Amino acid sequence: MADPKGFLTVQRELPKRRPVDVRIKSWSEVYETFGNERLEKQASRCMDCGIPFCHQGCPLGNLIPEWNDLVYRKDWHEAIERLHATNNFPEFTGRLCPAPCEAACVLGINQDPVTIKRVEVEIIDRAFAEGWVRPQPPAVKTGKKVAVIGSGPAGLAAAQQLTRAGHDVKVYERADRVGGLLRYGIPEFKMEKRHLDRRIAQMRAEGTDFKTSVNVGVDITADELRASYDAVVLAGGATAWRDLPVPGRELKGVHQAMEYLPLANKVQEGDYDEPAITAEGKHVVVIGGGDTGADCIGTAIRQGAASVTQLEIMPQPPATRPGSQPWPTFPILFKVESAHEELADMGGDRVYAVSTTAFLGDEDGAVRALRVVEVGGPETGFAPIEGTEREIPAQLVTLAMGFLGPQREGLLEQLGVDLDQRGNVVRDASYKTSVDGVYAAGDMGRGQSLIVWAIAEGRAAAHGVDEHLTGRTALPYPIPPTARPMA
Ligand SMILES: Cc1cc2nc3c(=O)[nH]c(=O)nc-3n(C[C@H](O)[C@H](O)[C@H](O)COP(=O)(O)OP(=O)(O)OC[C@H]3O[C@@H](n4cnc5c(N)ncnc54)[C@H](O)[C@@H]3O)c2cc1C
Ligand code: SF4
Repeated sequence: MADPKGFLTVQRELPKRRPVDVRIKSWSEVYETFGNERLEKQASRCMDCGIPFCHQGCPLGNLIPEWNDLVYRKDWHEAIERLHATNNFPEFTGRLCPAPCEAACVLGINQDPVTIKRVEVEIIDRAFAEGWVRPQPPAVKTGKKVAVIGSGPAGLAAAQQLTRAGHDVKVYERADRVGGLLRYGIPEFKMEKRHLDRRIAQMRAEGTDFKTSVNVGVDITADELRASYDAVVLAGGATAWRDLPVPGRELKGVHQAMEYLPLANKVQEGDYDEPAITAEGKHVVVIGGGDTGADCIGTAIRQGAASVTQLEIMPQPPATRPGSQPWPTFPILFKVESAHEELADMGGDRVYAVSTTAFLGDEDGAVRALRVVEVGGPETGFAPIEGTEREIPAQLVTLAMGFLGPQREGLLEQLGVDLDQRGNVVRDASYKTSVDGVYAAGDMGRGQSLIVWAIAEGRAAAHGVDEHLTGRTALPYPIPPTARPMA
């Protein structure tokens, strides 16, 4: 155990976000540095519980009390060994995970939980800085060939595990760069892409081969793929977005979030000086109150929007854990992300329980406003409330209302894998699809989810593939019985 009295003597502390007026002038990550000493104190708050509920909260089963103890004892080298034992990419989860582990932390029953996510990211950042993260090429090659389709966190995790197990792994990605939503969805201010590039360099050095700008199902058929590889891992994500088919949807200036965000990220990559879609000087409305919506807000503010308003059809969630979502469940709460702070600072609104009934255009066919109406809660079927209609001016609207599942046409149709009622790829507990030798991990099978789940599923699928190819496997399988898929 770390310090037996740590949880009594040390208060939870997190690094500060840089001042709003400073950070919105740049695309760098929003947090100030924390310092190893302060972090070691934070780690001392871990009680090393007999039953560590944080393990159950973390889909990867991260060994949280072990690395908290190691950090408290200043054994950072061993801490990264324990962290890498369960998580290929703590630099992604440590920055981006909503931390269900913290919601399940036993200290959280009557105090602020341990800052698990911050400890995680500081361990890996220090490990990179110290040169402890080195390529781990396999000692023995199996001669088996595996294709991984998609280079998001699920594909990357599966590829790294399978390469290290000795297989020849090629990752196909239809975008021009590797990373999936880590590259082109999540903005630079949430995670600078140098973290992604550094990890991909390690993977290349281990022997993983990446082929970008290849749309599998178009540039290579499913038959060609299956003939060339001993196994295939589908990790193509849930890219079919939810639309809002109300009058005026066709107007110029109404875009899907994933049409808007990648352009801003490409500017940061140095591809263009200006994005083809920009918020500069415009009144912006973001429809959707989740992570994607927050990313649109932060991006629009950095581009110089005149105003930003966020709309959400659901009622505003509570600020603290309600009785209906008791510890150790992951509660849905009113969150104030960095982008929301920036929104408040510019006088922007987060409007709840409101539905868009039409986009209104000008004589050039461009959007000029939204017509919205207040609605009742889900129990009313979001019934409109009479007399509450109003217009909100907007020259740019981004739709951030979630995703409906994987793209069916092309690869999935050609393979003929079974889909469930929601259109996701069906897998069994070894992450095998209905087609022999074809596995699926991440959002493609799970539906729109989280990075931590994508990594966990990528690792689990690698376990299944390795066993299929060699008859046994030493690769770990992180998914707890209650969360395993059932074919
Ligand atoms: C804007 C945004 C912000 C988010 N923020 C967070 C966050 O802060 N924290 C969090 O935990 N989660 C977040 N999420 C969710 C998270 O990004 C996803 O759950 C996660 O990336 C899923 O990983 P994946 O590997 O399954 O798929 P993806 O990351 O979607 O990667 C799939 C890849 O497959 C490629 N592909 C698809 N089909 C083919 C094909 N036929 N041939 C070749 N390549 C193909 C795609 O181009 C893509 O690059 C966010 C999502 C969005 C959209
Ligand atoms: S990956 Fe997420 S849930 Fe797991 S320990 Fe890290 S922050 Fe917590």
